[in-house]
Amino acid sequence: MDLYEYQGRELFARHGVPVLGGGVATTSQEARALAEQLGGRVVVKAQVKTGGRGKAGGVKLADDVDEAEKHARAILGMDIKGHTVKKVMLTTTADIAEEYYFSFLLDRANRTFLAIASTEGGMDIEEVAATTPEKVVRVPIDATTGVDHAKARQIVEQAGFPADVADQVTDVVVKLWETFTAEDATLVEVNPLVKTPEGAVLALDAKVTLDDNADFRHPDHAEFADISAQDPLERAAKERDLNYVKLDGQVGIIGNGAGLVMSTLDVVAYAGEEFGGVRPANFLDIGGGASATVMANGLEIVLSDPAVRSVFVNVFGGITACDEVAKGIVQALRLLEERGEQVTKPLVVRLDGNNAAEGRRILDEAAHPLVERVDTMDGAARRAAELAARGV
Ligand code: GDP
Ligand code: MN
Repeated sequence: MDLYEYQGRELFARHGVPVLGGGVATTSQEARALAEQLGGRVVVKAQVKTGGRGKAGGVKLADDVDEAEKHARAILGMDIKGHTVKKVMLTTTADIAEEYYFSFLLDRANRTFLAIASTEGGMDIEEVAATTPEKVVRVPIDATTGVDHAKARQIVEQAGFPADVADQVTDVVVKLWETFTAEDATLVEVNPLVKTPEGAVLALDAKVTLDDNADFRHPDHAEFADISAQDPLERAAKERDLNYVKLDGQVGIIGNGAGLVMSTLDVVAYAGEEFGGVRPANFLDIGGGASATVMANGLEIVLSDPAVRSVFVNVFGGITACDEVAKGIVQALRLLEERGEQVTKPLVVRLDGNNAAEGRRILDEAAHPLVERVDTMDGAARRAAELAARGV
């Protein structure tokens, strides 16, 4: 998950990286009140998950409260590279004597962590690297030893930071590494890291990407999730731990195993061409050992999508045999009825693989009026597309 600058700045502050004081506002009136608290002279910054805000006019200095309000009004609602600005961050300002660049990141290609540092910050680091590559140093970081004071010092010296700021930058580097590891980030980037005319070193920008795989270790990171930007069905699915992606078609898809579900999307899209361009409504992988509860949760999400007109449950029995899956489907439908959900959309079920015959028998015996069994994947996809085209 990429964070907004104000969220990254908050994490920096928690780990002692020097940042300017401030807050966020969603209206120009709020920005005015905030500017008043911060003493009038502030910088107003667009909060969007993309770089180059400065160049796009999304970062403006204000001398007083009136100007802060005016800048906030201009920046809120602005479009920056396809991102609409819904929030601005206001901070006190710093005068800048020098601008540097620093980042830690996960270097996947080389299976290591990497520190990137430059005394030429402020602008695009890619541009500095292209025109003056000798001014950007890249130092691999061994995950087992990390970055202690000595390692930080070595990076600072290699990058050629001036002697008068070397101690402070070393300290910031150690704290950025603490942020990177303690928060399970895959990127912490500061551009610019500045020296003020008084000689203080400050992080004026914060770009942080968190590793979602480590979310379970960080309940406090939940507050960073951009709930308003999320699809409501995807949000509901996430709360139930389901691997669900909303698409824009009419055939709800449930399958076990990501590969099978992906090929199901293709087969349904292909079959749907015959019925006026019917398409899959979602991706949903309920995994290998899916229980009746997981099946019920999956069905509930898929059926609650108003665009869905039929559902294709495509299961290939592997470790979990088809009879278990068939029982799961029957129980899931019962569970939904107990939950008071009216199941009115037709379900096409294809079961194959381990113990398919017994699975099919269980479905036939249950004889649910909305469940139709088709034995081949192509046949089932075609039937689901046909039912979706016909409507319910
Ligand atoms: P980006 O363009 O999206 O990377 O946004 P930044 O946060 O890096 O801001 C862009 C530029 O605005 C920085 O490179 C600074 O030169 C300038 N800037 C940001 N904050 C301040 C500040 O407090 N004082 C001054 N003088 N300039 C600032
Ligand atoms: Mn920047």
